[in-house]
Amino acid sequence: DDFSCAKATADEARNHPDITVRTHTVVESVEGDALLRRLTCRDTETGETKTYDAGKDTFGVFVFAGYEPATELIRGIAELDSKGYVITDASMKTSCDGLYAAGDVRIKPLRQCITAAGDGALAATELERYALQMQKKTGIHPLRPAVAEPEESAAERASSQLFQPEIVRQLQTVFARMERGLELRLYLDDSAKSDELASYMDELARLTDKIQVVRVQAEEVAAEDKRPCVRVFCGGKPVGIAFHGVPGGHEFTSFVLGLYNAAGPGQALDESLRQRLLDWDTPCHLRIFVSLSCTLCPELVTAAQRLATLNPRITTDVYDLNLYPSLREAYQVMSVPCFLINEDGPHFGKKTAAQLLDLMEAART
Ligand SMILES: Cc1cc2nc3c(=O)[nH]c(=O)nc-3n(C[C@H](O)[C@H](O)[C@H](O)COP(=O)(O)OP(=O)(O)OC[C@H]3O[C@@H](n4cnc5c(N)ncnc54)[C@H](O)[C@@H]3O)c2cc1C
Repeated sequence: DDFSCAKATADEARNHPDITVRTHTVVESVEGDALLRRLTCRDTETGETKTYDAGKDTFGVFVFAGYEPATELIRGIAELDSKGYVITDASMKTSCDGLYAAGDVRIKPLRQCITAAGDGALAATELERYALQMQKKTGIHPLRPAVAEPEESAAERASSQLFQPEIVRQLQTVFARMERGLELRLYLDDSAKSDELASYMDELARLTDKIQVVRVQAEEVAAEDKRPCVRVFCGGKPVGIAFHGVPGGHEFTSFVLGLYNAAGPGQALDESLRQRLLDWDTPCHLRIFVSLSCTLCPELVTAAQRLATLNPRITTDVYDLNLYPSLREAYQVMSVPCFLINEDGPHFGKKTAAQLLDLMEAART
């Protein structure tokens, strides 16, 4: 019948000239072609249905189906309520001694980051107290593993202007595992983004001798779509990975993982999946549209790049969609991650390597 949030918040929506609030209303259906065009809703009091027709325009639907706490792990160990939320006392202790719960999994009136963090602090402190008591009671003390201070590498000593020392340390770990050297070929124009990409890649290369950066002269390439772009090569051959834009934000990790997968040995892959991938025998080009702030995009990008680095017939081009609005129009991208398989699609949502391969097989038949 009405909003269940704070009245002041609800009033902002209610009084906004561009927002129409429909209470006691349910969505019956949405229809369209590649994009949503019509929505039919029903008034639950009068039974009357109304259709909103967007014509050639489109609209979005935000689906909120509620919450389901992922507490199967402790079912039968600690007490849960009928909806699966963990029952705790004020110190975050569950019904099982030594087991504490914090955050959204608990029964609580407000599920927000700040309350989850507060729960976590309390649970950790209480757990420490409990552990100390148990050590006194049992006389058993855990052996603390000796933590070796990582040696400062030459590149770290040189310090990075772009990356925090902790990131440099993690990058060094990845670079140390890489079996082969890589070449990052840059396709630039005279935009500020091109300068940004070049300095970003130069900085990566400065941290390791396994990465070389090469600027490809404009006249050497007739038409490299969507610049700036970085393509990864190994031993003079493309490894099937390209990023259009600057792989920062959440795409930084997937880009580095892509390099690791290209240089070998790469991330472990289930043996049956590896075999399916090696058996793949037709050219497949994956175009992936991402936004750097999307937390779902990196999983898809990493999966696609893993496939590409293991089978030369598979290639991936990743695009920072915010940089190329024309792609949004051309491919009717409603949300990210979005991808095309040999121009078939658009497909949406994060995918694992196995799910992506399933879709590639379906698109081929
Ligand atoms: C759409 C939306 C918008 C929101 N907006 C805001 C906002 O603006 N401000 C705000 O403060 N809060 C907001 N929240 C709420 C906020 O996100 C949560 O309260 C907060 O993230 C809870 O933190 P948590 O650590 O308890 O749980 P989560 O952040 O959900 O973390 C739980 C983690 O455990 C992992 N996990 C689950 N099962 C297992 C397992 N068996 N093994 C290993 N890992 C496992 C999950 O993958 C997940 O990463 C929003 C929530 C949603 C859904």
